[in-house]
Amino acid sequence: MAELVIPEDFCVDKDPKGKTSHGDGENFHWIWGDGSSEGAAFSNDDVKAAYEERGEDQVPLGIHGTTVAVDWDSCVAAGSCMSVCPVQTFQWYRTEKDIPAKDALGETFEGTGNTEQDERLDYTDKSQPIREHDCTVCMACQEICPEGAIRIESANQEWHEKAAGTYVIMPSSSENPHAHD
Ligand code: SF4
Repeated sequence: MAELVIPEDFCVDKDPKGKTSHGDGENFHWIWGDGSSEGAAFSNDDVKAAYEERGEDQVPLGIHGTTVAVDWDSCVAAGSCMSVCPVQTFQWYRTEKDIPAKDALGETFEGTGNTEQDERLDYTDKSQPIREHDCTVCMACQEICPEGAIRIESANQEWHEKAAGTYVIMPSSSENPHAHD
């Protein structure tokens, strides 16, 4: 397994910089951090050539997702995550909306993009955790990503909810209203 590039505390006590919504009107995933041009995508020949062919600037993008976190600056569109995920958490975002990756922030995606490993639009495409909410925490994508660009951490649901303002502290068992004296 490649060393993970996303730090453990990437979302802890931080504010996300934006989100991408799911067209179901209920789900969304946060986008964290300013990103870094140190990521593997910036030195990958396929990715660099694809940006050049499009005439599009390659800019830092940050981390997409919280419990299923994908570092878009390290994603080189290998697509291994697509092939192993049992619940199609990921899609090639450009196969649904062919827009610059930085503009995915604030957008709504229906989840109709391609989920096949080799069906990226081109190497500027990114693995988008559009169905983060469906993840079964099997860890297969984290283990297979050649760049260590994916971090799976179900405990980060707390930070997803805190950023959304929906976090509720569950009462401890000692305060169980059904407990008898
Ligand atoms: S941990 Fe498993 S279920 Fe979750 S996104 Fe990765 S491959 Fe899919």
